[in-house]
Amino acid sequence: MQIDILTLFPNMFEGPFSESIIKRGQEKGIVKIDMHNIRDYSTSKQKSVDEYAFGGGAGMVMQIEPIDLCIQKLKEQRTYDEIIYLSPDGELFDQKMANHLSTKKNLLFLCGHYKGVDERVREHLITKEISIGDYVLTGGELATAVIVDAIVRLIPGVLNDETSALSDSFQDNLISPPVYTRPADYKGWKVPEILLSGHQAKIEEWKNEQSVERTKQRRPNLLK
Ligand code: SAM
Repeated sequence: MQIDILTLFPNMFEGPFSESIIKRGQEKGIVKIDMHNIRDYSTSKQKSVDEYAFGGGAGMVMQIEPIDLCIQKLKEQRTYDEIIYLSPDGELFDQKMANHLSTKKNLLFLCGHYKGVDERVREHLITKEISIGDYVLTGGELATAVIVDAIVRLIPGVLNDETSALSDSFQDNLISPPVYTRPADYKGWKVPEILLSGHQAKIEEWKNEQSVERTKQRRPNLLK
């Protein structure tokens, strides 16, 4: 998978993409992530990328030209499955969307900042808008990092045990069962006996019951 990220703050991705699973996915050559600084596409002398909003109001607006020039240049190199703008009013991101996007070949993420992008970017250059929740972040960078993480771990070969992602919460509309590890008894806080029994069929039955029970308690909407 090729992921291109358009941002004014490429350094914000250094931490999340240089550790753990995302790092491994890149090292294995399964995913390539490239950052593109929108400021490099500004045609103004001062390399400015934002302006006051027409009609007034507080906050700056990201201009269309540098974003358009960057997207057009990248589109000469590849065909995108989706050109995604991160936006608080976009479609809410969930596991189903992560599964869907993880099957794609080329994805482009546009990170907004300030008051967001000129509306014409959304009207003419974008194919999908995604929100990670009903709250407002400073920019689209953290939202993109969240989405890229959720997608990349689903691509076959990225996790050491591919079946692990399939047993995570929200796959099959169920919450994951509780997990325990050594020691079996810590300060008198004991691991459920069944998990130490060695009866694999009974253990699976218990895990399934736990999943259903947790889903009923914590996310009953998933069972509808
Ligand atoms: N004026 C915008 C509004 O009220 O909807 C908020 C702009 S926000 C300060 C700047 C940028 O952060 C947005 O353009 C978007 O790219 C990103 N952003 C903020 N909250 C987000 C969220 N919940 N999900 C995805 N992206 C978000």
